[in-house]
Parts: sequence; structure tokens; C-alpha cells
Amino acid sequence: MRPNAIELRAVSRRYGAGDSGVTALDDISLAFPTGTFTAVMGPSGSGKSTLLQCAAGLDRPTSGTVCLGDTELTALSERRLTLLRRERVGFVFQAFNLLPSLTAAQNVALPLRLAGRRPPKAEVRAALHRVGLGDRTGLRPAQLSGGQQQRVALARALITRPEVLFGDEPTGALDSRTGREVLSLLRTMVDAEDRTVVMVTHDPVATSYADRVVFLVDGRVSGELGGRVRASAGEIAAHLTTLEAVPC
Ligand code: ADP
Repeated sequence: MRPNAIELRAVSRRYGAGDSGVTALDDISLAFPTGTFTAVMGPSGSGKSTLLQCAAGLDRPTSGTVCLGDTELTALSERRLTLLRRERVGFVFQAFNLLPSLTAAQNVALPLRLAGRRPPKAEVRAALHRVGLGDRTGLRPAQLSGGQQQRVALARALITRPEVLFGDEPTGALDSRTGREVLSLLRTMVDAEDRTVVMVTHDPVATSYADRVVFLVDGRVSGELGGRVRASAGEIAAHLTTLEAVPC
């Protein structure tokens, strides 16, 4: 058994109170073992983003606990949580969120600067080299294609060597070929470096790069595919069709 990189126990997240309140997550228990790639799917409003934010320490559950390795996030002060997010988790979003006035290398170095560290040039260059952009270090985002910008965002997310990488539709803004390049990079990081990836996506092809797919409906886990055997895009698409049929 692999240790869990992230574990959610009986996590609920409610927004607002009383009759007008919304239960975004309803008593969810999920574990993400180290060295695995999990995709989270489900209809719009099913709680995917909320799940990611609670798992990453960006949002606090109303009840339940979230652990990153041996650290219980739900017990940390805001300050400790901010430090933990900076050093132990990485994020990639659909919008690349790069700073336009900074070069690729400066964008990648940013998390280290924010953590008060002087970014070693060789480390930054190596991070960009790993995502295939070793010869683009001095270019600004506007001089790069969408796929290249997302790879810079990936290098930036990985520069602190996070225990878990979270992706919220990381290929949502990319064409299918560049999307597949980014997904292959994520897959390689899991296989070659034993990293843990948790990714929200709508795309069955993106999901087929994962070891496991967790389906959410109405803030609850409605099913899983995969495990050790990776599900094919076709199996995932077929399962999604059954979910879409679930009345809200
Ligand atoms: P998904 O990512 O699957 O589209 P979300 O996690 O964004 O779902 O949302 C789950 C539910 O929680 C939805 O009903 C949504 O309207 C609600 N919700 C999300 N964020 C907020 C918020 N900040 N305030 C109130 N309701 C919210």
C-alpha cells in the first residue's frame, strides 16, 4: 500500500445557511495515494472545483478533515496554510495565470521568490528544460503559444517540488495536440518522479491519461473507474453518459 499524499475524511462544504444554503460537498471521503494520477469528472455544479480547493487548502471544509501527508490542513492557521500551499502543493489552471511582464524564467522563479528564496538559475533553467522549453527562457508569455505558456505554468508549479500537483481543467484552453503534450508531461511526472496529480477535467481523452477517475454528482462520489488498470477514453465517455442521465 502506498502512503496517501492527500486524504479527505467525511468532508462537507456548505455555502450560506438555512434553506438558501448550498451543499457543494456532501460527506466525501477520498484518498489519493502517492504516485498516482486521478481525474475528477462530473456535471457542472457537482462540486469538482470545491473538492480541489478543499483538498489543496485553498478553501476550508465546513466539516471533516483534509490531510496532506501527515499534516492536517483543516487544523492549520491561515498563515501556516499559506506557507504550506506555497511549498507543498502546486497548481495549474485553465487560464495559465502567467505574469505578462516577466520572462518564462522569471515566471518560473516566482514561487521561490515569494517563499523568500533566491532562485538558483540552473534550477529554473532545468525546470524549463524538463517541459521542453530550455531554449525559451528569456521570452515573455505573449511571445509563446498557448501550449508553451501552459508548460511554463507547469514548470512554475513544480519548481518548489510539491508533493501534489492540482490541475483545474489544465488543458481546457489548449487544442487537442498541445493538450496531449501537457497531459503526457503530467503522466511522465507521475511515472518517472512518483509525483501525485489530481486533475479536474471535462475531457474523456484527458481522463484517459489518469490511473483513476472519480465521478461526482451533487457533491457526492457517484462512482470510480480505473484503479490499477487505466480506463480508456471510450469507457469514460460511456460512464459519463450514464451520469448525465442522473436527474439533478
Ligand atoms: P463544479 O466545479 O463541479 O462546477 P463547484 O464546486 O464550482 O462545481 O460548485 C458546486 C456547488 O456549489 C454549485 O451549486 C455552486 O453553485 C456552489 N458554489 C460554489 N462556490 C460557491 C460560492 N462561493 N458561494 C455559493 N455557492 C457556491
